[in-house]
Amino acid sequence: MIKVERIRKDLETLAQFTATPGAGVTRMAFSPEERQAREYLQREMEAIGLEVYTDAVGNLFGRRAGKDPEAPVVMIGSHIDSVKNGGPFDGAAGVVAALEIARALQDMGKETVHPIEVVVMTEEEGGRFGSGLFGSRAMVDGISQEELTGTFDEERISKAEAMKAFGLDPDKVREAVRKPGSVKAFLELHIEQGPVLESTGTKIGIVESIVGIRTFFVTIYGSADHAGTTPMNMRRDALVAASRVITAIDGIAREAGENTVGTVGSIQVKPGSNNVVPAEVRFSIDLRDGDNEVIERATAKIKQVLAEVCEAANLTYTWEEALSVPPVATEAKIIDIVAEAAQRKNISFRMMPSGAGHDAMVMARLAPVGLLFVPSRDGKSHCPEEWTDYEDIALGAELYLDAVLALAQ
Ligand SMILES: [Zn+2]
Repeated sequence: MIKVERIRKDLETLAQFTATPGAGVTRMAFSPEERQAREYLQREMEAIGLEVYTDAVGNLFGRRAGKDPEAPVVMIGSHIDSVKNGGPFDGAAGVVAALEIARALQDMGKETVHPIEVVVMTEEEGGRFGSGLFGSRAMVDGISQEELTGTFDEERISKAEAMKAFGLDPDKVREAVRKPGSVKAFLELHIEQGPVLESTGTKIGIVESIVGIRTFFVTIYGSADHAGTTPMNMRRDALVAASRVITAIDGIAREAGENTVGTVGSIQVKPGSNNVVPAEVRFSIDLRDGDNEVIERATAKIKQVLAEVCEAANLTYTWEEALSVPPVATEAKIIDIVAEAAQRKNISFRMMPSGAGHDAMVMARLAPVGLLFVPSRDGKSHCPEEWTDYEDIALGAELYLDAVLALAQ
């Protein structure tokens, strides 16, 4: 059985391993606090008979043998690194849920055909070196030597140097790559980091897709004229045009799909003077949805509005694409198992997209993945106030216990 008291103890213990006591959890990759957290988890894994090992990039595993040692593993876990002054649940909730599932299997004396591995991923947040998803990328794609020697923390310590100081050999990172077919499934439980579950009174979010992200930069060119002497009908005001386009983007995102989000989060105005008509405005567009076609359609509409607004105002513009990450679908079979278990156990759930990337997004290139969300109080995350009820994490673990059993039998 999943026991909420053990989950509470694990999370309260992990929360103590922080570089900023009293100001949230700060647990950077390859830091003393991370080592303490790993040592705690390692002891807990060994206490239930898991075979503990660390791969070449520091991913920590607790392996529960299967009847067929050659069978692909069912992997479950998340990360324990944090952002600066983050909360006690981001990442840790998923690691602790995975550990508790292994304990429950031990309590039940369950044997499985497939081995099960609890995984604690290295540097998902990228809080120290700025490039996250390190542990999962190392397993799926492999890490380049350029990344190890070319990314630095604030003290100009390279990732390679930090790894060495942590007892790892950066020359061996390729050894962390998992063979295709060697992982049967990867399951991750994570806090929602948004307000949807709490505000709808739902306990579990079953993620159907991790959203695709498209980022664009638009620059509109007008003419810098005197704010006092240029009549309104003779102006070529880039900011007025930009604001019309930005307002339209909000409407297009609202209408594009149930889960579409569109954000203009940065804007620069030139010359940026209170008495000069704006001559040049550059702004960003961040569009996200779980369905690429929805993003494509919304993008086309925005382009159309931009063209019309600029044409009507006698302005020119440029359009640049800065980022294009396709959506990632989670595994239908895993969704079905979890949804069926939730119905049977009378646990409220809803299907939803993930608006943030997680290790599961990377692992999906290696194996079928599942991703479950549990509620975040007030939708807050990456801050000391981050909170999820232990009982809710236990409910998520119960559903994944069923999924692990179904996948590993
Ligand atoms: Zn996380």
